[in-house]
Amino acid sequence: MLRRLRKQGHKEASFRIRFQERKSVLRGVPFFRRVLLVRLVLLDELRQLLSLGGAMAEEWEAASTIAELYEAIKDCGRCPLGDTRTNLVLGTGDEQAEIMFVGEAPGFHEDRQGIPFVGPAGQLLDQLLGSIGLERSQVYIANTLKCRPPENRDPQPQELATCTPFLFKQIELIGPRIICTLGNHATKTLLVTNTGITQLHGKLMRKGGLAYVPLFHPAAALHKPPLKSTLVEDFQRLREHLESERVRWREMAEAGGKDAEAGSPPDKEPEQMGLF
Ligand code: URA
Repeated sequence: MLRRLRKQGHKEASFRIRFQERKSVLRGVPFFRRVLLVRLVLLDELRQLLSLGGAMAEEWEAASTIAELYEAIKDCGRCPLGDTRTNLVLGTGDEQAEIMFVGEAPGFHEDRQGIPFVGPAGQLLDQLLGSIGLERSQVYIANTLKCRPPENRDPQPQELATCTPFLFKQIELIGPRIICTLGNHATKTLLVTNTGITQLHGKLMRKGGLAYVPLFHPAAALHKPPLKSTLVEDFQRLREHLESERVRWREMAEAGGKDAEAGSPPDKEPEQMGLF
């Protein structure tokens, strides 16, 4: 009876069977050996559980390329957006880019094509890149959320909590010199601040050893045309920030510091948001 239930996937039945099997193995074994045996069995089970957990956790965390990361998460169903999206939109561009842009979430066109910033906001982003002599293939573009929220509503805290580890993994793989956060959502998520984009835009900020330049979201400039000239100016400032970051990295490499050898700048004290 118990065995039939176990075959049908009955958990309690399989526990009972294992208990009985263990009891029969231990019968006749002196007490201290029984204790030892039980401990060994438990340790073995614990090890198996840990390695199973490890394997599950490693699937995307162990990715060493963007393609591997995409393979590991392309069918993600960790939040309800997995049910409504057409495509998971991971990112596009040069995987060794010096500048990485992070927007909010895919919209209608991005969801259909599986590529970030291909709609009207993306066309403006292309123009802005062109204004500093860059093409989208020379930078890397991603979003905080990888799946489109229905009706383009704001990302929910739970969705951000679920999805941002993938963004951090992307940042780790790309290793950009500067991360441009586009709009309030990306800025607040990555810089962990409540200070709005109106105060932060165009300034170089450091957090956790990374350099950030928050920018207005191109979609905001499409809705409020005066913001477009601010964005154009901020892109010119971005070009200057990139130059000074290159110099900084070169100096660190020449100084031969440990961090420079490892290919990343030293962790600077995070600057106070209130200073900006
Ligand atoms: N807006 C975003 O934030 N991201 C996109 O990919 C497109 C529009």
